[in-house]
Amino acid sequence: MERLIGRYGKFGAAKTFLIFAGVHGNEKLGIQALQELFDEFEERKVDFEGTILGIACNLPALQQEVRFIHKDLNRQWYLSKIRKLGALPYGMLNSSEDIEQKHILDLVLDIVHDKGKELMLIDLHTTSAKGGCFSITNNHPRSRELALQIPVPVINGMVGKIKGTTLEYFDELGLPAIAYEAGQHTEQEAVQRMKAGLVSIFTNTSCLGSKELLPYQHVLDKMKKDFQHLPKDVHVTHLQDITEEDEFVMRPGYINFQPVKEGEHLADDKYGPIYCPSDGLILMPLYQKKGNDGFFIVKKVD
Ligand SMILES: [Zn+2]
Repeated sequence: MERLIGRYGKFGAAKTFLIFAGVHGNEKLGIQALQELFDEFEERKVDFEGTILGIACNLPALQQEVRFIHKDLNRQWYLSKIRKLGALPYGMLNSSEDIEQKHILDLVLDIVHDKGKELMLIDLHTTSAKGGCFSITNNHPRSRELALQIPVPVINGMVGKIKGTTLEYFDELGLPAIAYEAGQHTEQEAVQRMKAGLVSIFTNTSCLGSKELLPYQHVLDKMKKDFQHLPKDVHVTHLQDITEEDEFVMRPGYINFQPVKEGEHLADDKYGPIYCPSDGLILMPLYQKKGNDGFFIVKKVD
């Protein structure tokens, strides 16, 4: 697998989309979606007023189909750490994810610091739980505008709850970024949703002519229908932070956006039962071994 999935567009243009896939190695569908999208653009020779750079992030974890090898690559994006990684040679790095992060930074740092570029990050993910898909924004006002081009719930308030995410990195750089959770890890429909969501963003930012949306419009229409029962805007109120030593086990059957009540028995760990801290909707209940987030509670924004 290549680190650079593809590059497309007019390279002098200001608008630049940095698209990350496979930050978590058990989430391969983002790679497939980008490969297909680059092929479709090449084949139709679409005119793109901007640049897209698609990057496969955690290659060793993707090869082994695990979330990460030594540590979660989506918890490593601190400015102080990035500065250190820039200065240290590869031979001095002893964690697989540090090496991966340095490779990614080698590819993107020039663009990230190019003030002439209008840079946006879209980070493609899938979830272990069933039930819908959603986008997550950082605090930059443009992020919400980008997210609203995909007909799925928009989650805000995540930056600050989870530390060291790609979204937080872009937040600290003063740049817009969204994560797009397009379905379950093995759900092929997620590939179609990723492609359609990306093209919707590209057309709505005038990088693509509106006719380029036509081949993907049926997917967006189906998403509108499939997710119309979900709230458009939600805010994160709680993160159940866990470590491997906690032996966290989510109780079975929870799906994304399922309503939960304060006091509901949601999970167990070696310290006993874990009860829901407040009424709300559950998001990303953890049904896989690796991960630092047991579940999130979100509330609809009126
Ligand atoms: Zn992920």
